Amino acid sequence: MREERTEVLVVGAGPVGLLTAILLAEAGIEVRIIDREERTTVRSYACALHPRTLRLLDQMGLAAPMIERGRRVEKIAFYDGATRQAEVKLSQLGGAFPFMVILPQNVFEDALEQRLRKAGVAVNWKHRFNDVQCDADAATATVEELGATATGYIVPHWETVVKRSFPLRAQFLVGADGHGSLVRQRLGIEQTRVSGPEFFAAYEFEPAEAVEDEVRVVLDQASTNVLWPLLGNRCRWTFQLLKSEMATEFPEKERRAGRVAQTAVDESIRQYVEKVAKRRAPWFTAGVKEIAWCTEVVFDQRVAKQYGRDRCWLAGDAAHQAGPVGVQSMNVGMSEAATLAGALRRILREKAPLSRLEACDLEWQAEWRRLLGLSGGLKPRSDTGPWVRERRGRLLSCLPASHEDLAPLAGQLGLDF
Ligand SMILES: Cc1cc2nc3c(=O)[nH]c(=O)nc-3n(C[C@H](O)[C@H](O)[C@H](O)COP(=O)(O)OP(=O)(O)OC[C@H]3O[C@@H](n4cnc5c(N)ncnc54)[C@H](O)[C@@H]3O)c2cc1C
Repeated sequence: MREERTEVLVVGAGPVGLLTAILLAEAGIEVRIIDREERTTVRSYACALHPRTLRLLDQMGLAAPMIERGRRVEKIAFYDGATRQAEVKLSQLGGAFPFMVILPQNVFEDALEQRLRKAGVAVNWKHRFNDVQCDADAATATVEELGATATGYIVPHWETVVKRSFPLRAQFLVGADGHGSLVRQRLGIEQTRVSGPEFFAAYEFEPAEAVEDEVRVVLDQASTNVLWPLLGNRCRWTFQLLKSEMATEFPEKERRAGRVAQTAVDESIRQYVEKVAKRRAPWFTAGVKEIAWCTEVVFDQRVAKQYGRDRCWLAGDAAHQAGPVGVQSMNVGMSEAATLAGALRRILREKAPLSRLEACDLEWQAEWRRLLGLSGGLKPRSDTGPWVRERRGRLLSCLPASHEDLAPLAGQLGLDF
């Protein structure tokens, strides 16, 4: 079988893979980007861009259109039950973007895919990475082109089939293939886990009354929860699910198309959200008019023990994950994409040594050790209140920041590294 070739193969067309591919293509590097799915996501998942990400996007002329499509938020408030305990103002960061932008991940991914197309590269959707062999000069991936076939006689049932499998030889391979990263697994890279998995449920809804332009985080003894003001008149509650709650209280989601049953299920979810919000956030009086979407999701705070080696490197969720509140994993992933694309350009075009990538690995490891509290975490000052003091470990992953923005925001809470 004829071997296909490219300079860089990016596996995964999420936000991190798309940005990596854009920056490489715009630097004149031949890039192929593959994804096993058939299109970008349709949900809002990681719905906030940090100030630092806006600064990065601004260098590409992409910040202004994202700000225009999103909702600016300058403040994060921290509650424990009914009490407002602390707040952090992004406005104090100064600079051109002293705010975060609430933007559904699907809108962001669509904008990135369009930009990539403008650079002359189309995502190879329905192409699945399966394995990689590395030698001194290249990484050769085995890629499967996927198709669908109907099975079943009376009721057709669609199954994914491999239409063809082919080798794709690249000078470098970037694994931006998300939390379950097969690239990471094939490279045999282990991960450092901070704690066990944490379970969350997210509910997007239309409130009966408008909510304020601030993100509200509820950190009680047992759970972490967040209320996001979304675009238009929507919001999202993300509740941490407690083990005791999961078995008995969480409502079943409807799997059938029947309209009457759906209405009944939506109503029971609506009541559930109101009930949990009332218990965990008694100040939430906006009410839940209509549920638009809900999902359960597991977060596992972790970082890869190395980001790659030689010709294969990871970026984004493939290498790390944090909690849902600070949206750190996607945003830091964007900055990894930019650094990685820059390093690859210098290696491929300016004969920079491969050790540049090892330097990136060290830098990223250090940042994630800091974000996950593995290098000592946040320390209270002598006048820091008891609530912040006690919650400081959990507050770290709730800050919408990394790198140079993290310490100033933590400082507003009376916490230092
Ligand atoms: C239900 C849900 C809710 C979420 N909520 C939040 C939240 O509230 N806050 C938050 O911060 N984050 C949230 N996230 C996580 C957030 O979406 C990720 O941090 C972000 O998408 C990471 O971007 P990425 O580009 O690194 O990876 P991804 O967006 O995961 O992209 C990886 C891509 O790789 C592709 N891929 C995987 N394996 C292969 C393969 N073998 N071959 C080819 N392609 C492959 C996948 O199809 C995918 O398109 C949520 C995620 C989910 C699923």
